[in-house]
Amino acid sequence: LMQLFRPLDLLGMVYRTIRQGLIDMGAMFALLDRQPEIIDPDCAPNLHVNGGEVIFDNVRFSYDDREILKGLSFTLPAGQTLAIVGPSGAGKSTIGRLLFRFYEPQSGHIYIDGQDIASVTQNSLRASIGIVPQDTVLFNDSIGYNIAYGREGAGHDDVVNAAKAAAIDGFISQLSGGYETQVGERGLKLSGGEKQRVAIARTILKNPPILLLDEATSALDSKTEAQIQSTLKSISERRTTLIIAHRLSTITHADQIIVLDKGKVAEHGKHHKLLAAGGIYAKLWQQQAQDREQQ
Ligand code: ADP
Ligand code: MG
Repeated sequence: LMQLFRPLDLLGMVYRTIRQGLIDMGAMFALLDRQPEIIDPDCAPNLHVNGGEVIFDNVRFSYDDREILKGLSFTLPAGQTLAIVGPSGAGKSTIGRLLFRFYEPQSGHIYIDGQDIASVTQNSLRASIGIVPQDTVLFNDSIGYNIAYGREGAGHDDVVNAAKAAAIDGFISQLSGGYETQVGERGLKLSGGEKQRVAIARTILKNPPILLLDEATSALDSKTEAQIQSTLKSISERRTTLIIAHRLSTITHADQIIVLDKGKVAEHGKHHKLLAAGGIYAKLWQQQAQDREQQ
């Protein structure tokens, strides 16, 4: 019988979290995927963000028996941008899931402004972080609602301004239903790039102190990508930003770049330093430069 109730419990929790407007849909799906037993400690305080410094301190993490992160440490100073690159399957998205506390490390700690994220309420933690996920899932509701959802009480002007910043306003305006157009399974189907821009608009509206971009522009064509990149760059200038990137050309401006390989930091530094070092990063860069030429 408990087996039957657990999913219902989880759905109830997901519903409550959504109602509080604290997470986005990408986050919700990660939530459905997570272990349900992560609960707040008794009388846990809220997270207080003052700048938003993020520290991973010797974090080890396994899904089931497979160790993905083998003692990962890094410091992302408040207001700076740190990019994480590495092969597919290296554990990059896992780092975001741990920061959002969908999973807990087997050992080690994650701190935001000196507070262990395991010791504060999950709601306050998630309210402080905006995610633009790899795959965005939309509500079966209007496109306007799907953006407005980023912030409780957002007005129409706020929604339109966020849509403009995410380069999706032009697309929405030419729909016959405008911002009221229904999207999702029973409505308009959006392309990967359009969904990604909705997710970016939502995050711009949420205006969080900490930003997590997980291959946030991977589904965009290169012209739209360049346009959105400059927007993301300007919103990340004023906040702590963790970028998970596939295309290295989008992260050359980062204050620090980490190359994740075999669960550890294999290389670490700024773009030019890593290029000069002639290691994994430099090889990846050359490879991608060749791909760019062939296009
Ligand atoms: P990346 O984002 O670098 O491509 P991920 O962090 O998504 O990698 O995943 C790291 C590894 O963990 C992959 O091999 C992936 O298949 C595995 N993995 C991801 N999520 C789960 C899960 N929920 N359960 C078991 N294994 C998982
Ligand atoms: Mg990933």
